Amino acid sequence: MKTDTIAAIATAMTNAGIGIIRISGEEAIIVADRVFCAKNGKTLKESKSHTIHYGFIMDGSEIIDEVLVMLMKSPNSYTREDTVEIDCHGGTLVMQRILDIVIRCGARPAEPGEFTKRAFLNGRIDLSQAESVIDVINAKNDFALRSSLHQLQGSVSNKIKELRKKIIHETAFIESAIDDPEHYSLDDYSTHLSDLILELKTEIKRLLDSADNGKILKEGIHTVIVGKPNVGKSSILNVLVGSERAIVTDVAGTTRDVLEEHVNLNGISLNIIDTAGIRQTDDIVEKIGVNKAKEYLDRADLILYVIDRSRDLTEEDNEIEQMIKDKNVIVLMNKSDLQQKIKEDDLKMISEHIISISAKEGNGIDDLTAMIQQMFLHGQVALNDEVIITNVRHKNALAQTFESLNMVEESIRNQMPEDFYSIDLLNAYESLGYVIGEKIEDDLADEIFSKFCMGK
Ligand code: GDP
Repeated sequence: MKTDTIAAIATAMTNAGIGIIRISGEEAIIVADRVFCAKNGKTLKESKSHTIHYGFIMDGSEIIDEVLVMLMKSPNSYTREDTVEIDCHGGTLVMQRILDIVIRCGARPAEPGEFTKRAFLNGRIDLSQAESVIDVINAKNDFALRSSLHQLQGSVSNKIKELRKKIIHETAFIESAIDDPEHYSLDDYSTHLSDLILELKTEIKRLLDSADNGKILKEGIHTVIVGKPNVGKSSILNVLVGSERAIVTDVAGTTRDVLEEHVNLNGISLNIIDTAGIRQTDDIVEKIGVNKAKEYLDRADLILYVIDRSRDLTEEDNEIEQMIKDKNVIVLMNKSDLQQKIKEDDLKMISEHIISISAKEGNGIDDLTAMIQQMFLHGQVALNDEVIITNVRHKNALAQTFESLNMVEESIRNQMPEDFYSIDLLNAYESLGYVIGEKIEDDLADEIFSKFCMGK
């Protein structure tokens, strides 16, 4: 295992109040002592763990910055190695200079995620916990943050360990009974095992089902607003976004013509393709072309189709309806503050999900939120202590486990000899192990940690 000393800027590379340079590894303290000069003249080597030291980063005789240095000796650190964090001024130039000096004095630049990888390799956290670190950092809403924090604290790991324990217990029993039939009887064993497999499958099924919610919670619902000009798309978006006109990101594969807004509806994120943001023509189809528009509509988890309730539907509405039929659509009958011209019944063809709203008066947004929760979280709000799977890798491992358990069931049904059971039970055990990183191949670990940001 690598124990060489690594260093990176752990905070964002923009100018900010403070910045942190993190150093970890066998020589972290020696390296830090080479660049840091404490005001009280003491070296870090002779200082106690978990202490903070005031002084200067020096490049030879030149003072580079005035800093606080945090000292965390192995094993009580994020990586379990000796770790020093230099709390400096958060200018990009000063942070870069300090990192350069640290590297010149014996550390090497860390790879993305390498600190967390060491925490994993040194056994402080398991793989599912390590992965949740990225999720905590990337969380876009309360649900996502909360579920990834749970996972960091071991919710998924504990569940997996509990399931594995039950499985390994049975495998051990079968092996013992085969080796030592005098003391361990396999009479009636298949009934007992069938019951247990059913119980395990039920639990795994629940976890697998939670993954759909998990994906929605983590990534948000990919949403497109469509509707002809002047029905109120921009106004609705403004109401949804509220005062904070959201974080706007470019959508991959597009130029500036389409933007995505992140809206937080009672904890659920909607990533809305902002066709209303297209100024010259409000018509997504006209602006980005029919093919592109279809592509967005095809990819969307949800389409918000806006009509003006106070005016008759036109040929333009018809065209849009053709494009969105058979998709997951909520019809927003906007301008409910005005005299109603269109009846709900006229829209039933498009979707059973129809809501009257008034962007002008802000009415109907609660109904929309409730409907989205109903549609995507199957009515249950997942903000409780339930274990939720949010990671595709975990989901796949659980699906494999489920498959192996099915095989055990089949062997029982076919009255196969007991050692057949244990092969598939062990496969199930191993698949579960992937979630927490047992028996994981090096390249898979590399791939997982490369998704981290620098300094984490
Ligand atoms: P878009 O072209 O679909 O984005 O429509 P806009 O949001 O620009 O709205 C078009 C016009 O309808 C504007 O004058 C809005 O003030 C008005 N409008 C939007 N929503 C409502 C509503 O709920 N009630 C009323 N009375 N007017 C609305």
